[in-house]
Amino acid sequence: MTPLPPGSVIGILGGGQLGRMTVVAAARLGYRCHVFCQRRDEPAAQVSALATLAPFEDEAALAAFAASVDVVTFEFENVPALPLAPLAERVPLRPHPSILEIAQDRVREKDFLAGIGVSTAAYAPVDDATALAQALERIGRPALLKTARWGYDGKGQVAVGADTDPAEAWAALAAGRAQTSGILEGTVDFEREISVIVARGPGGATAAYDAVENMHVEGILLRTVAPAPIPAALADEAQALATRIAAALDVVGLLAVEIFITRDRRLLVNELAPRPHNSGHWTIDACAVSQFEQFVRAIAGLTLGPTERHANAVMENLIGADVARWPELAADPDARLHLYGKTEVRPGRKMGHVTRLSPRT
Ligand code: AMP
Repeated sequence: MTPLPPGSVIGILGGGQLGRMTVVAAARLGYRCHVFCQRRDEPAAQVSALATLAPFEDEAALAAFAASVDVVTFEFENVPALPLAPLAERVPLRPHPSILEIAQDRVREKDFLAGIGVSTAAYAPVDDATALAQALERIGRPALLKTARWGYDGKGQVAVGADTDPAEAWAALAAGRAQTSGILEGTVDFEREISVIVARGPGGATAAYDAVENMHVEGILLRTVAPAPIPAALADEAQALATRIAAALDVVGLLAVEIFITRDRRLLVNELAPRPHNSGHWTIDACAVSQFEQFVRAIAGLTLGPTERHANAVMENLIGADVARWPELAADPDARLHLYGKTEVRPGRKMGHVTRLSPRT
């Protein structure tokens, strides 16, 4: 494929921090971005040359957007996949929206993984309290009941313990939702959580970053340690697994694969994200080519860059009120501070992150 020349316009659906950091990386390569989001003060719209402010269901706005860009991508997977179909006729959509349909539904995602022989936690689709009770018989307790769609950062999840009444668990999940389809997952007694981010170009070339360890609090990523302190053979296995999944999905762009390492050292895939990922933010400061530049390279058809790490890194998210630490962090010569331009501080909201480097091991 002929690479997009500098000056081309990259369309990005979604206005969050992943889009913001993509816009900055694209600018460095001479591209302009056009962000499609809802408000001018969203993190990506603040730094983008062009912005369309409209709902994702606005077909006329989407058509005008498509006419103004050379390629379209998305920075979060909760873009409704359906309105994207007409877009694909006008402009290359990378990755293809069929990947969104898999990644935005936990049941389809796990079915897809099972279909290509990738292990996950035990799971069952559940659509009401009766199905939940039956699924619990098979999967056992403890288990996690999650919404199949539109969940993120641990939202839409209910823990099912030894004494939890299935009817109450279902009611808790369904509360405030017009329609709920769910998934029951066996709780994995993991040793660690890791992730691998792999870039894949239109011709099928791939480049994977080192496996990293992730620590969560209440379902929200708190810290990423690069590289993950795991045996090299296991790290290689995780990279190979992520690369295989990216190829099976025919991703053009990035794929982040979240993986549990069980106590007996098996790899179980938890989630897929076909976009830049929070657990890859360390690459901005610790790699020659960050996940964001790699993302731009992949969707623009440029040769993928090296993924080597020139340092070890620890990335911490600034969540909610943590962001008040910015003066101290900005004054710390060892802290690489990244703020997302969000004015309203809310509990659980990702406001920025800070990366600390140390010599490469
Ligand atoms: P998710 O939204 O699926 O990524 O879940 C957020 C976090 O909840 C994960 O990173 C894990 O820490 C935890 N979690 C999710 N699913 C499971 C599971 N099946 N077993 C154990 N922990 C889980």
